[in-house]
Amino acid sequence: MNNIAARLASVSARLVQAQARFGRTPDAVQLIAVSKTQPASAVRAAFAAGQTRFGESYVQEALAKMAELHDCALEWHFIGPIQSNKTKDIATHFAWVHSVDRAKIAQRLNEQRPDVLPPLNVCLQVNVSGEATKFGTCATELEVLATAVRALPRLCLRGLMAIPAPEEDFRRQRAVFHSLRALFENLNGKGFALDTLSMGMSDDLEAAIAEGATLVRVGSALFGERGGSGEEELLA
Ligand SMILES: *Cc1c(COP(=O)(O)O)cnc(C)c1O
Repeated sequence: MNNIAARLASVSARLVQAQARFGRTPDAVQLIAVSKTQPASAVRAAFAAGQTRFGESYVQEALAKMAELHDCALEWHFIGPIQSNKTKDIATHFAWVHSVDRAKIAQRLNEQRPDVLPPLNVCLQVNVSGEATKFGTCATELEVLATAVRALPRLCLRGLMAIPAPEEDFRRQRAVFHSLRALFENLNGKGFALDTLSMGMSDDLEAAIAEGATLVRVGSALFGERGGSGEEELLA
């Protein structure tokens, strides 16, 4: 078993254990392998080990990898900040976008989603850490944004996403994820049929699963630290 396959097995075991520990049904949580900054060869190794969903944050980098991996049946999720001039590539090449945080971007994605493809799955990114991050809609503007996105026929509003500020304490990790879940339940109480909570990364996925995550986005625990050496080593 190569290193990526071993890491994938260990992350999958963490998901299984957390689902059991926190009373989630088996397979309630799906893994998105965050392959940003990783070479196509690393994605191929993870795919060979059974992983099909991949997350990317940079459009140009993602398109190059998709071209190299066109022979693999992969599901691509865009999880990075969205610039207006990149919406066409995102609408054309991805199955999901997790980082929609303003109506103007949603409208562009809707206009540019090709008719031959199914509607683009969308999560709204919410800023749950206050001043700590500049991305994401604030909670008070969420319902207005959700209402606007729901009206767009080429988008399918699936749920909410957050990237909390790093936090080591498990209970405090949970508290932030709990606040995203409360927003999710509030919208569903108002008739939105959301089914997706995209929350949890390498260092806090257990807390996210405890609070109802359905998609966790995991990079470094699968592929090693980004920007460090060791990509060759991972594929050895
Ligand atoms: C990089 C990234 C991740 C993965 O983070 P790790 O800590 O490496 O697991 C998840 N979500 C988003 C939006 C990211 O940009």
